[in-house]
Amino acid sequence: MRLVLLGPPGAGKGTQGSHLAVNLGVPRISTGDMLREQQRSGTGIGLRVAELIDAGQLVPDALVVEMIERRLESADCGPGWLLDGFPRTVPQARALEQALGARGERLDLAVLFEVEEEVVVWRLSLRRVCPECGATYHLASHPPRSGGVCDHDDARLVQRPDDGERVIRERLRVYREQTAPVVEFYEGRGQLLRVDASRPADQVAAELVVRLREHAGSVS
Ligand code: ADP
Ligand code: AMP
Repeated sequence: MRLVLLGPPGAGKGTQGSHLAVNLGVPRISTGDMLREQQRSGTGIGLRVAELIDAGQLVPDALVVEMIERRLESADCGPGWLLDGFPRTVPQARALEQALGARGERLDLAVLFEVEEEVVVWRLSLRRVCPECGATYHLASHPPRSGGVCDHDDARLVQRPDDGERVIRERLRVYREQTAPVVEFYEGRGQLLRVDASRPADQVAAELVVRLREHAGSVS
């Protein structure tokens, strides 16, 4: 299955995507994770990427499109994939469609995680991540078992620099301006599945499984 996960920052794309990818047996490909890796590389491009991420701005389309196109050619993408955080602009969505078309492939669905902005601000400001394994926690809804350290490897959890309230607000502005039109792009193609992402994570996960099964049934 080939899926795109859409929705504002903090909607739960990473949380749901991690479970779903395991269930579907496909890789979860997060452009945010890939870019943060580039940032850590300390190269010239890495430093520029870091500046943009920390300011809540998008990285140029050409850079992410090339990165994704290369990634989708990997052998593990054969059975499908789940894209988390891409496309984030209409030109990115068009580039993906073209790249797939050139290989005779098609996106199955774009899943839109719908949630109010104030909920997102609360989710992101209390998000903590493990710098070692990337596990994501929330201090209220999904806290680690013992204060401030990762359940898996005991590393001290950190707050992402772009999860401060000022940058969160900027990311939401960028989402409204540049990413919301991507929703219309997929809606116009009859490829959009809307999910109420404001409920507890286990309920969202259960609904997703049912809705994806319904979709698979309706196209087979
Ligand atoms: P995204 O990948 O869309 O930016 P995340 O999956 O990282 O969002 O979730 C943002 C924060 O909200 C994390 O701290 C996560 O633990 C928490 N979270 C995710 N889904 C829910 C939910 N349904 N209810 C409450 N908190 C959630
Ligand atoms: P995320 O981890 O998805 O919240 O992304 C973190 C940051 O990485 C974003 O705020 C952007 O700066 C950058 N980023 C991730 N994906 C993209 C994309 N598809 N296009 C442009 N910038 C992106």
